[in-house]
Amino acid sequence: MLLEGVAASSGIAIGTAFLFLREELDVPDYTVDASSVDEEIKRFESAIRQTKKELEVISKSIRSEMSNAHSDTFNAHIVLLDDPMFAGEVQKEIKISRTNAAFAVKKVAKNLIEQFSMIENEYIRGRDADIRDVAVRLIQNLLGKKKMDLSSLKKEVIVISHDLSPSDTAIMNKNMVIGFATDVGSRTSHTAIMARALEIPAVVGLGKITAQVKTGDLIIIDGNRGRVLINPGGEVYEEYLIKQSKFNEFEQSLYILRDMPSTTIDGTNIDLACNLEVPEELAAVHKYGAKGIGLYRTEYIFIRKQTELPSEEEQYKSYKEAVERVAPDPVIIRTLDLGGDKFASYLGLPEGVSSMMGLRAIRLCLQYPIIFMPQLRAILKASAHGNLKIMFPMVSRVEELRQAKIMLEQAKSELDHDGIPYDHDIQVGTMIEIPSAALTADIIAKESDFFSIGTNDLIQYTLAVHRVNENIAHLYEPLNPAILRLIKRVVDVAHDTGIWVGMCGEMASDPLVVPLLIGMGLDELSMSPIAIPEVKKIIRSLTTEEAKKITNTAMSFSTAHEIESYVYEEAMERFPEVLMWVDHRNHHSL
Ligand code: PEP
Ligand code: MG
Repeated sequence: MLLEGVAASSGIAIGTAFLFLREELDVPDYTVDASSVDEEIKRFESAIRQTKKELEVISKSIRSEMSNAHSDTFNAHIVLLDDPMFAGEVQKEIKISRTNAAFAVKKVAKNLIEQFSMIENEYIRGRDADIRDVAVRLIQNLLGKKKMDLSSLKKEVIVISHDLSPSDTAIMNKNMVIGFATDVGSRTSHTAIMARALEIPAVVGLGKITAQVKTGDLIIIDGNRGRVLINPGGEVYEEYLIKQSKFNEFEQSLYILRDMPSTTIDGTNIDLACNLEVPEELAAVHKYGAKGIGLYRTEYIFIRKQTELPSEEEQYKSYKEAVERVAPDPVIIRTLDLGGDKFASYLGLPEGVSSMMGLRAIRLCLQYPIIFMPQLRAILKASAHGNLKIMFPMVSRVEELRQAKIMLEQAKSELDHDGIPYDHDIQVGTMIEIPSAALTADIIAKESDFFSIGTNDLIQYTLAVHRVNENIAHLYEPLNPAILRLIKRVVDVAHDTGIWVGMCGEMASDPLVVPLLIGMGLDELSMSPIAIPEVKKIIRSLTTEEAKKITNTAMSFSTAHEIESYVYEEAMERFPEVLMWVDHRNHHSL
């Protein structure tokens, strides 16, 4: 039987299933006497202390085994235990409704998870696993029950579960858990992030795999394609054994590329940088041989705060850490791009911010200096510690860039006044992700030090196809002739004006598209860290002349379908080994 889900962590695992089903915690629902309320609160406080201790032990052991970044998940759990939105609400529930502590924890956690589930942003929705994890630990400590975990397995297994919490994943005995598959989950859930960090092949979001597998079944996890095979026949099994060893060879061959330059056969260099969503990913920049950070998305620092804006100091610390870790390579910090599918409801911002065409990103920042000025000062201050560039998102006309630059100048004079150092020659870039900006790129280029093309938005606005609407996903065509023409125009205009141009949308790491981007002359490509070796491999397999020819031919076709078929054939001829492993299902016509 073959099940299809979301490819969460690459690699192929073949082994025996271990069905990991956690019994639902039976939490008693009763009220305590008025005279026992104080005692119940004390019990709750003691469970908090015990839970904190447990989490500190886990965090410490993970820090020594993996990295600070991954132990941060558990530090975040510890913070949650002190959070008024969580622990404070539980205390209120005990005091006001006289609910017993364990049931109060369950009730408050359920409410919070429900609130999170309404948020469109996938990243925030993924945080419900953290709340659930902390709540289960607390309840177990209150009820004196032992938690079943995956640390004590005695033989190699593939874990099959409805869901795995971040701590389930983090304390897995990595020598024993060779792969996992879950009913639910997304690519941005902590569990998926952790799986990639541990490099355990995983497929999530499979629907009902727990109903179809028994412990002892033979399982194949194809984390490259998002597939799981249950009790495959001999032939398929043999085929996957070969696939597995070939994939391992392929990975090894890519690792050799880590310190090699990303240059075409004839010596043209294309800088490969990382897109950073959360600071936890910093370690991956060096691991995959990236040349700095091409897009530091600052939204998550704001979204994570939950109840208030992050202070200038907090922002400065985060930006400084990135700049110092990556120096002498550059870090391009993008100013706040809140809105669209990235929305922090607590800010109490006007309606319309949440809409894709609303008061989002730079528009919002220009209107609210109270948000923008501290961020500009924090970015400037961090620029004293390494190689930092600043970039403005969602610019739709040159006046917005001018206004943002005036505010940047104001932030500079404030720092000058206070004698605070910063890089006086900081480069200022503009994201080209709105068709009007692409069409007036010649005007905007004269006032920018560089461009970075944001194809995720450029595609949605050019083709009028919402980027997160599954029903029209087939119309979201990266290779539509309109998109290629706009990108080509932006690159040509940038070079005519004498500035460099990069790309930080998902198109930059699409193996079918990379030859076209080389052919068009992009100077830099920025992508998720794990994609870097594959893209480097493609760059190193072409000459600039060949890439230009491919681009010219592709641009002579009339439809995305024709272009896709053509670039697919070219790719199969030049780097079939890369195409074998990557999930290119975002090309709907193939
Ligand atoms: C883009 O639009 O391509 C981009 C990189 O920005 P984001 O995905 O954060 O909107
Ligand atoms: Mg964008």
